[in-house]
Amino acid sequence: MALLDETPHAMQVTTRNPGDGSTVATYPLGDRAAVDAAVERARAGATWWREQGFRGRRDHLVRFKAAIATNAQELAEVISAETGKPGSDALIEIMLTLGHLDWAAKNAKRVLRRQKVKAGLMNFNQRATVGYEPYGVIGVIGPWNYPLYTPMGSISYALAAGNAVVFKPSELTPGPAVWLAEQWARTVGHDVLVTVTGDGSTGSALAASRVNKIAFTGSTATAKKVMATASQRLTPIVAECGGKDAVLVAADADLDVAADFIVLGGMGNAGQTCAGVERVYVVDSVRDELVRRVVERASRLRAGGPDAHYGPMTLAAQTDVVRRHVEDALRSGTAVLGGPESIGGRTIAPIVITDVDEMSDAMQCETFGPLVVVNRVTSLDEAVRRANATPYGLAAAVFTRSRATADRAAAALHTGAVSINSVLGFASVGALPFGGVKESGFGRIHGADGLREFSTAKSVARQTRKAMVDLSMERTDKDVHMVARMIPMLHGRSKGSHQ
Ligand code: NAD
Repeated sequence: MALLDETPHAMQVTTRNPGDGSTVATYPLGDRAAVDAAVERARAGATWWREQGFRGRRDHLVRFKAAIATNAQELAEVISAETGKPGSDALIEIMLTLGHLDWAAKNAKRVLRRQKVKAGLMNFNQRATVGYEPYGVIGVIGPWNYPLYTPMGSISYALAAGNAVVFKPSELTPGPAVWLAEQWARTVGHDVLVTVTGDGSTGSALAASRVNKIAFTGSTATAKKVMATASQRLTPIVAECGGKDAVLVAADADLDVAADFIVLGGMGNAGQTCAGVERVYVVDSVRDELVRRVVERASRLRAGGPDAHYGPMTLAAQTDVVRRHVEDALRSGTAVLGGPESIGGRTIAPIVITDVDEMSDAMQCETFGPLVVVNRVTSLDEAVRRANATPYGLAAAVFTRSRATADRAAAALHTGAVSINSVLGFASVGALPFGGVKESGFGRIHGADGLREFSTAKSVARQTRKAMVDLSMERTDKDVHMVARMIPMLHGRSKGSHQ
């Protein structure tokens, strides 16, 4: 682990429990030198890691996974202490994380090993193969809302693809990162997963360092800064940013199921979910019934206490954003559950507001709190149009009993993922890539695309015999004549293909 024990006092990050404000722990604040040293150590670790091959890495990752699973209860407490989320939520987060670690470990060879590709008629003399190689060292910058699941979505796939990782967790939640690094040191060793704690300046130093790629998860505003810094060395980045996800409810939807999932996606984790539910578009004919069911379920939720369904806001300043959005929404809309009075310090009770102006901040900007807005639409096509009309494009959900309707809506939604008759349905499926479009970011974690995101493709063309036409400097008039005849033969037809 790259934790500097002799760090001066001012160069520290202290975390507090969002529930009672008590101090949880103090960590070093990694400066430029600490970050660069961590990257150099990881560089050495990367060489060893690469030498392990697909099979060796798989075995190490499965052992790492088992160590996490065996100590899951302890890790859940570490997660809860700094985020304030209930232990049950932390356990679910661990389970989802391990599913991805397992998938990445067990599928890396199949996806990334060197494979033959068709060379085409003209290249019958070439044996063409493509293989995927690790970048080297990946810098992972993480957020606080899912301090394990979210960064591990990058770390698992980066490691499985053969890279070493330097992980800079959020300054609000370094605990799970330090815990992971300890498990790694115990089960695998070598500097393959290195943690550097610190704040935005530490993240900035990582983006400026000699890492070979940055995997950033956090707000769109910070992603732009990371990209600007990384551009100095032309370091590529994958950016997993915010969202303003919508749920679309058709007239034929199962309204109980829709309401269950709207409440889960909107209020779960106190609404602090990048792909959580912030907006609902429901077709007029079932609007009143849906609102009634959402309000009925949401009003049963307990927020903030020891046996709560969700905890307090992890980031104190986010409470102000939620208050602003609630007040903004109420300029045009109607509160059907809670309102500004639901915001009691760090804990916010569920708020549901209807019929809000589409151009308000509450409908255009990420709220990241337990506020759900329900707007009526005349058709599912209108719902899709409205859902697409924000700068974000992370995910969306559609509720309908008609497969054709669902497929049409899914195709028209401008997002990186769509759930049908659930929310966040894609998040636990190892084979499904995750990531956004527009200001929700670019690049993909999870699935085969996630493995390739942390790899560089290397093409090899091996000549096995003489070419049909000599294209060398020794070519003759006959060869050139042949080329002139082949061009229309191979490419002159507007239909079909010879390749
Ligand atoms: P944030 O942007 O404030 O911080 C994210 C990370 O960036 C932190 O580790 C922070 O220390 C670091 N950082 C801050 N300034 C930096 C700089 N100049 N250079 C480099 N690093 C810097 O985000 P947050 O508040 O921690 O997380 C909440 C946001 O994350 C929300 O917008 C949420 O939607 C998003 N998020 C997205 C996903 C996804 O997969 N798309 C998942 C979880 C959270």
